Amino acid sequence: MMDYKNYIGGTWVETQASQANVNPSDVSDVLGHAAKSSAELMEQAIDAAHQAAPQWAASTPQQRFDVLDFVGSEILARKEELGRLLSREEGKTLPEGIGEAARAGQIFKFFAGEALRQAGDRLASVRPGVEIDVTRSPVGVVGMITPWNFPIAIPAWKVAPALCYGNSVVLKPAELVPGCAHALVEILSRSGLPDGVVNLVFGRGSEIGPVLVESDKVKAISFTGSVPTGRGIAAACGQKLKKVQLEMGGKNPMVVVDDADLNLAVDACLNGAFFSTGQRCTASSRLIVTEGIHDRFVNALTDAMKALKVGHALEAGTQMGPVVDERQLQQNLSYVEVAAKESGRVIGGERLNRETEGFFMSPALVTDTDNAMRINREEVFGPVASVIRVKDYDEALAVANDTAFGLSAGICTTSLKLASHFKANAEAGMVMVNLPTAGVDYHVPFGGTKGSSFGSREQGRYAAEFYTTVKTAYTLP
Ligand code: NAD
Repeated sequence: MMDYKNYIGGTWVETQASQANVNPSDVSDVLGHAAKSSAELMEQAIDAAHQAAPQWAASTPQQRFDVLDFVGSEILARKEELGRLLSREEGKTLPEGIGEAARAGQIFKFFAGEALRQAGDRLASVRPGVEIDVTRSPVGVVGMITPWNFPIAIPAWKVAPALCYGNSVVLKPAELVPGCAHALVEILSRSGLPDGVVNLVFGRGSEIGPVLVESDKVKAISFTGSVPTGRGIAAACGQKLKKVQLEMGGKNPMVVVDDADLNLAVDACLNGAFFSTGQRCTASSRLIVTEGIHDRFVNALTDAMKALKVGHALEAGTQMGPVVDERQLQQNLSYVEVAAKESGRVIGGERLNRETEGFFMSPALVTDTDNAMRINREEVFGPVASVIRVKDYDEALAVANDTAFGLSAGICTTSLKLASHFKANAEAGMVMVNLPTAGVDYHVPFGGTKGSSFGSREQGRYAAEFYTTVKTAYTLP
């Protein structure tokens, strides 16, 4: 059993470890215990990052490449082992866990390359003889607060660009998944980074999170998590005039129109709604279907959903693992109840027993809903999708956009005209045509509009916007 210690200033710090890391597929399997850190320990981590910041800011592109490439290579070489750890602590199926671990490795590899490609602009001035250079500098200490649903990929897509652009880091991972963050930082601790450049502090978000957010030594906060927490963090950062980036919830629409390829649409919705147990901010939770294909689509998706094998995340053949914990499971079941009370027709959505005691439920499809119902307004964050019947594409687009969120939006169609129109008019940061709303590439920007995101984009070259400050220098030689 592991004791997940904090990593502060290049040292693994002994703290009383009391937060159990429980396998959601089998609650008798406790992986370890994580530190419940005090505000003082968070302050120490911030101080360590603050002290180390100038040294790493002055590092060469080669040093940054070497660190990031080392980490990426090791994660990729150990993707099966890390994927197994991930599936054991978070509950996504083993192939999904291995896929996420590999993704984390690829992200480090991408930013290793970016470390060598940092460029500025040289411009002519409007004044005779004057030269202008526009360059990017590190921001300084960046605080990172991450959720439980992508325990290695999300820390990776924040830490890798931060280091690539010369920043130091304090990472506060989600309470439910300390193992992956610990494994990632353990690799980073052997990567050649100077002490204090990366720090890891476990503990309750509501207790130590605000210390990180409010510290004057922390120059930027990158947060992924729920809307209420994100709003609070943005307000605190606003008071301090601190740079902030938020990635939050979604209520992502998938439009299926009459001319769609039925099999493709069913596959895309099955994947988007239920894979990773629906615990993806980009999950397809509103399936908006035009009249001509509605009944055929609902019947085919129901059959495909009922055939999904729900079980222990590490068991071969499992297609949908458990929900992450009892609290989230109860939340999912209560949304199913709400939908039924609102006169939705519920298929599935029941607690399941398996050989081991865990947080299993059958995926749920709620048909006969309209967009005003709570099930279509609020994020469930579980394997629950609803179907909204609409007359035509125009109504589908209006319903798709009628939401407080704007992360991802999809359409299944064989019409180039509709696909182009949807890409231009869907109010979302990411648009998918004939692809699930979830599942993105790692070298392009990730993020949303409206209530889903705030601040500049994560991932790809666009990450530079958040992790650097632009400087404009004028010279009269
Ligand atoms: P959460 O907001 O409860 O927790 C996220 C993180 O914030 C955790 O590390 C938590 O400890 C910390 N935290 C809690 N209270 C805090 C406070 N007062 N100050 C500072 N930090 C605090 O979210 P969660 O339940 O872990 O994750 C699920 C949510 O994350 C969902 O809403 C989902 O949509 C969202 N999510 C979004 C994306 C995205 O990129 N848009 C990706 C994954 C998950």
